[in-house]
Amino acid sequence: AKAAGRRTFVRYDDSMEIANRRRAQLSSALHKVLDRGELRLVFQPRLSLTTRRITGVEALLRWTSEEYGEIPPIQFIPLAEESGLILEIGEWVLLDACRTLQRWRQAGMTDLTVAVNVSVLQLLRGDFSESVRKALTETGLPPHALELELTESVLMANAEQTAAKLQALREMGVSLAIDDFGTGYSSLAYLKRLPITTLKIDKTFITDLNRDPDDTAITTTVITMAHSLGLTVVAEGVESETQLRFLDHFRCDEIQGHWLSRPVDPESCLRFIREWSPAAIG
Ligand code: C2E
Ligand code: CA
Ligand code: CA
Ligand code: CA
Repeated sequence: AKAAGRRTFVRYDDSMEIANRRRAQLSSALHKVLDRGELRLVFQPRLSLTTRRITGVEALLRWTSEEYGEIPPIQFIPLAEESGLILEIGEWVLLDACRTLQRWRQAGMTDLTVAVNVSVLQLLRGDFSESVRKALTETGLPPHALELELTESVLMANAEQTAAKLQALREMGVSLAIDDFGTGYSSLAYLKRLPITTLKIDKTFITDLNRDPDDTAITTTVITMAHSLGLTVVAEGVESETQLRFLDHFRCDEIQGHWLSRPVDPESCLRFIREWSPAAIG
């Protein structure tokens, strides 16, 4: 038994070493992504339950590494944050997302908005609102067509400094969303104090909607609370018509998820939006 235990330990140790080696390899490959053009954005549409129309899209980052193939964002975003590379990558994302949206708007989709995920490092850096302004000026995208998605951890990281930065962005005219809402520790007081426009209910609550009474309670409470604070509520990770009907019934404003569309390349997304008919929900 002792020998077996030791073998298990050795194996565990090996797997740690393999994991660490992989992280180091990915991290070093990540430094070349921008030069090599290995990053691209995919887009996932968002649907208004009030108008039954597509209101906008969320830009999501994809990395296809020459050496390691497709690496999911949950693996490489943390590495990019550790190395600080997320700053450069984040600027690229912002610019590319704004450019794509402005192209679509000029092609007739004049009301569409784009949501871009922002890492805490980007926001805490001195000139983040300047990068945003630059992306808007360079692409011609109007500020109200851009929404920045921040996680609750961002808001808690440095409350004073963050509040001032968000205020500046809001004054510029961009919308501000709290992503993965309900998974962090932000208090209701923050919601009141910060110039937030949108709450995105985390998909973990949506998954078990109408099966788990707790998730149902949390979701309906968040919707009610958001509305009384004048915020737009978006449910993410909507995969079934049952979830959609439930969210519609409880007056959730917008939904996003595989039920509507997976995140897809820009051309496919534009085609999807063009061909979307409100009759699809009935
Ligand atoms: P997120 O911002 O919460 O994005 C939503 C994630 O849920 C995306 O995963 C999306 O593909 C996935 N998703 C959408 N609909 C459904 C659904 O119906 N069911 C399920 N199970 N999943 C759904 P993805 O693209 O793998 O991104 C993971 C996370 O990586 C994002 O979570 C975000 O935190 C981060 N991320 C992605 N792109 C960027 C970026 O450009 N910048 C930064 N800082 N983070 C990013
Ligand atoms: Ca997001
Ligand atoms: Ca989310
Ligand atoms: Ca997330």
